[in-house]
Amino acid sequence: MNRLLIIGGGAAGMAAAIRAAQTNPEAQITILEGLDRVGKKILATGNGRCNLTNAYITPEHYHSQDPARLEQLLSRMDTQRTLTFFQSIGLYCMEEDMGRIYPYCKQAAMVLDILLLALQRYHIHVVCNCRVTDITASKKGFTVTAENGTTYRGDAVILTAGGRAAPKQGTSGTSYPLAVKMGHRYARLYPCLVPLQCRSNVLKGLKGIRVTCHTALYRGKQKLSEELGEIQLTDYGLSGIPALQLSCWMDNKDADYTARLDLFPDWSYDDLRSLIQQRIREFPNEPLATFLLGLIHKKILYAVCKTCSLEPLSRTAGSLSRQEMDLLVSTLKGWKFPVTGTLSWDHAQVTGGGVFLQEINDDFSSRRQPGFYLAGEVLDVAGDCGGYNLHWAWCSGMAAGEAAAQWIQ
Ligand SMILES: Cc1cc2nc3c(=O)[nH]c(=O)nc-3n(C[C@H](O)[C@H](O)[C@H](O)COP(=O)(O)OP(=O)(O)OC[C@H]3O[C@@H](n4cnc5c(N)ncnc54)[C@H](O)[C@@H]3O)c2cc1C
Repeated sequence: MNRLLIIGGGAAGMAAAIRAAQTNPEAQITILEGLDRVGKKILATGNGRCNLTNAYITPEHYHSQDPARLEQLLSRMDTQRTLTFFQSIGLYCMEEDMGRIYPYCKQAAMVLDILLLALQRYHIHVVCNCRVTDITASKKGFTVTAENGTTYRGDAVILTAGGRAAPKQGTSGTSYPLAVKMGHRYARLYPCLVPLQCRSNVLKGLKGIRVTCHTALYRGKQKLSEELGEIQLTDYGLSGIPALQLSCWMDNKDADYTARLDLFPDWSYDDLRSLIQQRIREFPNEPLATFLLGLIHKKILYAVCKTCSLEPLSRTAGSLSRQEMDLLVSTLKGWKFPVTGTLSWDHAQVTGGGVFLQEINDDFSSRRQPGFYLAGEVLDVAGDCGGYNLHWAWCSGMAAGEAAAQWIQ
């Protein structure tokens, strides 16, 4: 009894395989990967540089339906765990701004090369073009069946076949039926770290403009979260890291979401109002189209005026009534965009929802099926941008690998 099967050769699967081999050198470990190579997604991470963990791993950077259970699991996963793992296979890292940690050579390809070398060093068997479609458990262990009909026998199985995001990188959600087959249930799936689609008649003219602002997401009147940073305006809605982060809060497709942009985050409402009043006093005959130039992007000013129905733009600044000025200031401090949804799974970096965390033990073994383990994005955890998702994948994979290796000993 020493055969370990790992379904899915991504970040979690490779970390699981390597830690299993380090823990139990006698184990016969096989990775079954649906694509023609393992670790394809890793090459795309961090814009080709692989932001592989973060110096500040805290629960606030993660989303799950079960934050209390997530906090328990994360408490065993500090940054050092990922760094020590990579050092054990020869990769050194460095920290950049906001705690983001990258490989020292800044190449995602190097991270994958190092992982592939370790797979070879530990004699881990890799079967590519092997999309798993079924799994059964019996007293004699597990039988895993691939799309082409080939079957594989294991004494333990780790499911690391990822989520539904970025299907072009092999992850179209095939892991969930396998988990269900082993008795698991999962929280509704939704795309995370994905641009927001908004209903607005001004966005078309703003395509490509970037603006540093404070963005808050509301569900009805409740503020869900807020982000400071550079928003990219697109013809369909909002992109850029703050918009991607806010998408992780949109777990209810029927809810009424609104994004509000504060274009002057460094100024209070009253300060901005005084400044605009002063500009009007100084330049009363200046048209609306130009009276705030030097403070705000020209096209954004046009769009804000349009939103407030302050037209035509040839009107003079001095012609603004008190109510009109108040409306202008409150729009500059809280420009509302009704959010109608997000872009599709193709554009998402991670999956919200997944197998319930209550259904796994601290070592990532299943509470439904002995000898079965789950790790990585298949679980109900999605992290912010900044290395949090890969950190979860490596650490949960390592924990599952260690435990499964002991189980088959
Ligand atoms: C463009 C992009 C950039 C990203 N950048 C970052 C970043 O810089 N930092 C960060 O922390 N996170 C980043 N992420 C998120 C991160 O890559 C994932 O959260 C992480 O890879 C999840 O690891 P995983 O092993 O659980 O799943 P994956 O890495 O998705 O691996 C799952 C593997 O299982 C295989 N598979 C699927 N179904 C089957 C099946 N039925 N049978 C056999 N094999 C199967 C897939 O082909 C895949 O190889 C990024 C994601 C994307 C899409």
